[in-house]
Amino acid sequence: TTPQRAITLADLPLRDDLRGRSPYGAPQIDVPVRLNTNENPYPPSPGLAAGLAEAVRRDAVSLNRYPDRDAVALREELAAYLGHGLGVERVWAANGSNEVLQQILQAFGGPGRSAMGFEPSYSMHPIIATGAATRWISGAREDDFGIDPDKAVAAVEEHRPDVVFLTSPNNPTGTALPLEVIARIAEAAPGMVVVDEAYFEFARTGTPSALSLLPDNPRLIVTRTMSKAFAMAGTRLGYLAADPAVIEALLLVRLPYHLSTLTQAAARVALAHRGELLGTVDRLRAERDACVEWLRARGLAVADSDANFVLFGRFPDRRAVWEALLGHGVLIREVGPPEWLRVSIGTEDEMAAFRAAMAAVPVPGA
Ligand code: PMP
Repeated sequence: TTPQRAITLADLPLRDDLRGRSPYGAPQIDVPVRLNTNENPYPPSPGLAAGLAEAVRRDAVSLNRYPDRDAVALREELAAYLGHGLGVERVWAANGSNEVLQQILQAFGGPGRSAMGFEPSYSMHPIIATGAATRWISGAREDDFGIDPDKAVAAVEEHRPDVVFLTSPNNPTGTALPLEVIARIAEAAPGMVVVDEAYFEFARTGTPSALSLLPDNPRLIVTRTMSKAFAMAGTRLGYLAADPAVIEALLLVRLPYHLSTLTQAAARVALAHRGELLGTVDRLRAERDACVEWLRARGLAVADSDANFVLFGRFPDRRAVWEALLGHGVLIREVGPPEWLRVSIGTEDEMAAFRAAMAAVPVPGA
């Protein structure tokens, strides 16, 4: 037999538009305090874990069959959670909101088409667009990380993207967009407008959801996830609300039986326990606001946050600060504009560990 010769990625007939690209890569490092991927730090309660186990036991005996292809019961319950008069025909679900976004780009993007976002924003939007062979157009946010509606409308009119992404509250900055800004961009956009509301439940009281714009905007899509406020990142369940015609479009690209029986069951149990799960949101908001105040009192620049993380800076050598924190067993994220770092909000104890580690880090000007 001929000896196997090792080949590299460069030797493979990879798509030209994927050559030289980097994969998504939040480091998964095993340290005591992990505040780097905007997870909810509170694990399921014993009661919820028992409910999940019971649902798996119930469904285990029918795993020889494919799941409900259209996840009707789950979508009905998600619609009831969202309110706004939504029903099953206006709600769709997939494996994490990342898959929801991928399906949107498969249906409305593609070769010869473009998608636009206002950056800094969620790094997966351009990566998913590229994977769906959709050209990425980078729009800009202002110095305060908001979006200037006049400039955004001008950019949309100039580039005429097929899909516009508006992330609110935005990752990694925490910035929520006023509904007027979303409405103006939606009016100007020639194609689909996706409002990524992954962090909506963490927004400060009174922040309205873009769901209220759906009746007047049939090309608007609002995406949500159970990974953050619902503390179910491991379940992989994302969902969206949109016009029923949008869901018809997504049926054309989704894989048959994409949402496993066990995923559907787990998500329904989580929804049934939503009082307990969403109860963590108030604690996380309080910790977030305290974290913003503490960092500001140390003389740092801190972006206002409506999410479960805080962007702070500015560090001429942010890598050194990130490494110093890691040295204290605290993993945060080196992401966003240069000189800024992002910390996800953890438990009271984890945030105390973060503050202790930060206090030991030399901060410019402090
Ligand atoms: N949108 C935004 C803005 C996010 O930050 C994330 C997760 N980091 C997602 C979508 C994807 O979340 P998931 O696939 O877990 O639902």
